[in-house]
Amino acid sequence: MAIDSQAISLSQPKARRSLQARVAWGDHVVTVGGDAPVRVQSMTNTDTVDAIGTAIQVKELALAGSEMVRLTVNTPEAAQAVPHVREQLDRMGIEVPLIGDFHYNGHRLLTDYPDCAQALSKYRINPGNVGKGDKHDKQFGQMIEAAMRYNKPVRIGVNWGSLDQELLAQLMDTNAQRVQPFDAKQVMYEALITSAIDSAKLAESMGMAPEQILLSCKVSGVQDLIAVYRELAQRCNYPLHLGLTEAGMGTRGTVASATALSILLQEGIGDTIRVSLTPQPGEARTQEVVIASEILQALGLRAFVPSVTACPGCGRTTSTTFQELAKEIDDYLRAQMPVWRSQYPGVENLKVAVMGCIVNGPGESKHADIGISLPGSGEAPAAPVFIDGEKAMTLRGENIAREFHQIVETYIEKRFG
Ligand code: SF4
Repeated sequence: MAIDSQAISLSQPKARRSLQARVAWGDHVVTVGGDAPVRVQSMTNTDTVDAIGTAIQVKELALAGSEMVRLTVNTPEAAQAVPHVREQLDRMGIEVPLIGDFHYNGHRLLTDYPDCAQALSKYRINPGNVGKGDKHDKQFGQMIEAAMRYNKPVRIGVNWGSLDQELLAQLMDTNAQRVQPFDAKQVMYEALITSAIDSAKLAESMGMAPEQILLSCKVSGVQDLIAVYRELAQRCNYPLHLGLTEAGMGTRGTVASATALSILLQEGIGDTIRVSLTPQPGEARTQEVVIASEILQALGLRAFVPSVTACPGCGRTTSTTFQELAKEIDDYLRAQMPVWRSQYPGVENLKVAVMGCIVNGPGESKHADIGISLPGSGEAPAAPVFIDGEKAMTLRGENIAREFHQIVETYIEKRFG
């Protein structure tokens, strides 16, 4: 059958050209915004005073794929520990830039602890937490001065949990005088955006280069985040840090983050992302990095690890063999990535399919680089393997899983080695 009507449009994320910031440690530079790929970042949950424990967690996050890692700098002791965290990381060969998260006393810590100010690669400033009244601009200015002195970019990060209450009250008053007042939520959105942009303009008026400023306006509702960031993206061209704050735990937090971030990323909004997931007891902190990476990979914005396509299984599968094989292959590929990233450039684009029966198995396998279709119930005990779209062999017997594992390894060595 010929295509006799107009071709269906291809779908891909829109591009939004923002300014480009450089977040650097030594020669290691992570560009954010402009034509740079959307960056993944994360945050530690260790006590920063515990420099060794913090450095170990930063290393884990970096190896999982976090390109920048933020840590809390909340006390003089934490500020004193930051250079030691940096030293430990340098000793381990981990170049990931560190971002200091400051609230209330950042102006003092950055002034009193120059080694901390130097060891960090970026400062996060919350304009809602830098002081009230006359102190606000003065203390904000001290942080901006420190950033300019050490040549560090800043993220002006507004959060609706700590929104500048004076600004909100002012906007509420103005709104009340309107003939047709806006909804209270719309005033809240306006306050978030105004706080971020006015703070950025204030930093610029103090001499900071616009390329050194990133913005974020975090809220915890999906629709709120979408509304706020759409507007924020229209009103400025600073690089945007995107994330749903306090997303929650487990499936709920994952789904909410993926939903909100995907919609905005598809519209070209967001230059760096963080998934703020509450870890479940025993869950690794790195899970938030895995989810952030998977969101970008699912949208086709970036590739981090080879992807494994697996069917959900149904009444045609009577054993869990294919589930186990899919998980084993996925775990194996993910575990190898810290080494493979440099050893096998491009391996992150590999596509593997592990399917439960012949209904969709061979078709899906042909779309992958390597695919296997395990025998469903009632089918002959044979598993056809497809390589680069062609049937390459059929595996039989007890060792199908092990043999397929070997085939994948050989393929990777041959193609990417
Ligand atoms: S490929 Fe086969 S086993 Fe898997 S879901 Fe489809 S019909 Fe079921």
